Amino acid sequence: MLGSLNFLADSLRRLIEGLNITYKYFLKEPIYTINYPLSIREPFSRWRGKVRVRAFNTKETIYERTKYLNFSFNLPPCVRGCPANVDARGYVMLAGENNFIKSLSEESVNNPVAFCFGNLCTAPCETTCSRGVQDHKPIAIRLIKKAISEYNIMNYYQNRDTVKYTIVSEPTNKRIAVIGAGPAGIAAAHRLLRFGHKVDLFEKYNFCGGYLYSGVAFFRLDKDLMNKEYENLIVFTENGRIFYNVSVISEDEKDKYSKVISFNDLQNYNEQINHLEPCGILFSELEDNYDAVVIAVGATKPRKLNLKNAEKVNIIQAEWFLEDWNLGIRSYKIGSQVVVIGGGGTGIDAARTCKKVFSDKVVIVDILAREDIPVSEEEKVEAEEDDDIEFICQVMPFEVVVDENNNIKGLKVAKCVYGPLLPNGRKKIIRTSEEFVIPCDTIILAVSRDIDIPFVPKDIVGSRGEIVVDGFDTMVNGFVYRFGQTSRPKVFAAGEACYGPQPAIVALASGNRTAEKVHYYLTNSVPPVLSNDFLRILGPLNVHKVYKKSVAV
Ligand code: SF4
Repeated sequence: MLGSLNFLADSLRRLIEGLNITYKYFLKEPIYTINYPLSIREPFSRWRGKVRVRAFNTKETIYERTKYLNFSFNLPPCVRGCPANVDARGYVMLAGENNFIKSLSEESVNNPVAFCFGNLCTAPCETTCSRGVQDHKPIAIRLIKKAISEYNIMNYYQNRDTVKYTIVSEPTNKRIAVIGAGPAGIAAAHRLLRFGHKVDLFEKYNFCGGYLYSGVAFFRLDKDLMNKEYENLIVFTENGRIFYNVSVISEDEKDKYSKVISFNDLQNYNEQINHLEPCGILFSELEDNYDAVVIAVGATKPRKLNLKNAEKVNIIQAEWFLEDWNLGIRSYKIGSQVVVIGGGGTGIDAARTCKKVFSDKVVIVDILAREDIPVSEEEKVEAEEDDDIEFICQVMPFEVVVDENNNIKGLKVAKCVYGPLLPNGRKKIIRTSEEFVIPCDTIILAVSRDIDIPFVPKDIVGSRGEIVVDGFDTMVNGFVYRFGQTSRPKVFAAGEACYGPQPAIVALASGNRTAEKVHYYLTNSVPPVLSNDFLRILGPLNVHKVYKKSVAV
């Protein structure tokens, strides 16, 4: 009896509480839902900026938001931590059950280039891994990816069971041109092929992978295997073709090319993989003759630094040095004492390549503290322990020391300290009066890259040279990456072309998202799900329950 009275009292208390909350809300701010896609909500101007509140703007963005917002709220931390929402939990679980091919199939739903990323990914997923949060030992998600991808390659060469890519939609007979075979381009092209479209992939080099092939050090992964992995993602269906050594150009650039081909010329190529004589093709040819065009080229223009006496000497750009070395040109003269300015991925790769091939002593200088340099601790330790690279951090280079014959003798730097946080969340760098010289005979610059895509029509280019698109998403670290459709309906863009240099996994994620936008544009239908297992492993989603939650701002 007493029990039921308590229960009654408790239910009454909770009912009153609930009514109270509703009453308060009713008074304060109306709660309303959006009748997707019929009604939309315009954000207040002060909300426009780097970190945006979600689930409004255009009909498309709402579709994007609600679809992904439901996902992201319900995703395991590791899956949410990966910009491409790769099902890390699922594939690690399946690998743990020795089901390697199934594991890789699961992994490849959102990241089809497992071998490449198993070796190169910066693995933000491991920074959000629950094990890592609990006992600072995250699951080796990246290395498990590397292992299952190598298992698949081994099976491939032994004619045993390997991952198969299925086409999940009726053929649409739509033909799409994808420009750039880096992570963004290959992700977009592969996904569009799986959605039932025809894709021609254009690459200005003679290999796939973009900067991950030309700009990553030779010892990090087998580039031929990586190239094979990329190619297989296109030629797994007869609807996919690759055109190598074809640069997409604007009218003004025509004179720079001895040979400029047309769309009709392309029809003479019957192979799926075509290595053409280096030539150009006009961007307008693609825009006029394809149902859609995806621009997925990287930010390839190395950034310069203002150093005194720099004009008197030859300062080497790390990106071009690595490309020169990786493509076997080997034209750079590197001395025995090298200073690399910039400790990011490219800087470390250039430093280690110098130490392995040319130099006795290599120093990396960076304006940030060692722990703030945006590469994994593992990479820094490997560079220090395997190649004896020295890091000199929190210094600002300002002058090249030269002798009377303008030979490099050293790099003058000033010590820096951190000041207060800036509005953009970064720490202020304060230069001190303490200066010293680091002796060297070669200086290599690795201070990031800029977007430089001369063939893109000016009406879709933004203030920093980026391509202006309609899609965006926010990663767990707060970075906003972009993808999607430009103001020219048939033209889409993905990857660094939309937001500048960022880890390759971000480019891949934006490639996936752009492919879904292209499919939506061409068929006016929601992109098909590539694998039902993804949902099975994560458990069914009650869309309506989550939908309401995601729209209430
Ligand atoms: S792609 Fe990179 S971030 Fe994503 S799950 Fe794999 S290792 Fe993690």
